[in-house]
Amino acid sequence: MNFYILTLFPDMVMEGLKTSITGRAMETGLIHIETINIRDFTKDRHNHVDDYPYGGGAGMVMQAEPVYLAYQSLCEKLGHKPKVVYMTPQGRIFCQETAKEFAAEEELVLLCGHYEGIDERVLELIVDDYVSIGDFVLTGGELPAMAIVDAVSRLVPGVLNNGESAEIETFHNHLLEYPQYTRPVTFMGKQVPDVLLSGHHKNIENWRLKQSVERTKKYRPDLYQKYLEEGGKQ
Ligand code: SAM
Repeated sequence: MNFYILTLFPDMVMEGLKTSITGRAMETGLIHIETINIRDFTKDRHNHVDDYPYGGGAGMVMQAEPVYLAYQSLCEKLGHKPKVVYMTPQGRIFCQETAKEFAAEEELVLLCGHYEGIDERVLELIVDDYVSIGDFVLTGGELPAMAIVDAVSRLVPGVLNNGESAEIETFHNHLLEYPQYTRPVTFMGKQVPDVLLSGHHKNIENWRLKQSVERTKKYRPDLYQKYLEEGGKQ
């Protein structure tokens, strides 16, 4: 899968994504991540990409032209107009379902704003989808873009070592995942639950489901409600 990230801070994005699992997936060619530096497309002799907002108000606004030219250069490189997703706190909220939806695409173009955002006119011209990573305001779209690339990449076949681990974890069936333990059996006087050491697969499965249901009910009553509505057992 190919990711193209339109940003003013390409190093920030690549430094984060080249480590750990996404970095390994890039090395093995399972995913391709490329940044396009919007600043490379400014015609301003001081390389400015922002200006004061018409109508007044705080902050600066990213200008339309460099964003449009950066997008155009990508269209030329790809030979077609790609689907562009703008990172914005005003968008639909990204969740595991959105990650699955994006993972079905062959390529994804993520546009990162900064300052007070981007001139609306270029958004109207090039953006297909508006996505937020939550109801809070960040300084830029880079962290949201990285979060999305990470969440989508781990759904690309082969990116995770164990194919199952992306399927049965938190949000599967609207449940949070059960607690996990690893060696040693005793840590600061706290024991791993006996059932996990029993080797009895059915009992382990039942125990895990019970734990999942209990913690979902406690921490995410909204998800628990969905779980019940879809016929989940209490
Ligand atoms: N003035 C804008 C508003 O009130 O809607 C917020 C601009 S924000 C300070 C700067 C940039 O950060 C945005 O253009 C967007 O790309 C990104 N951003 C901030 N919060 C975000 C969020 N929750 N999800 C996705 N992108 C976000």
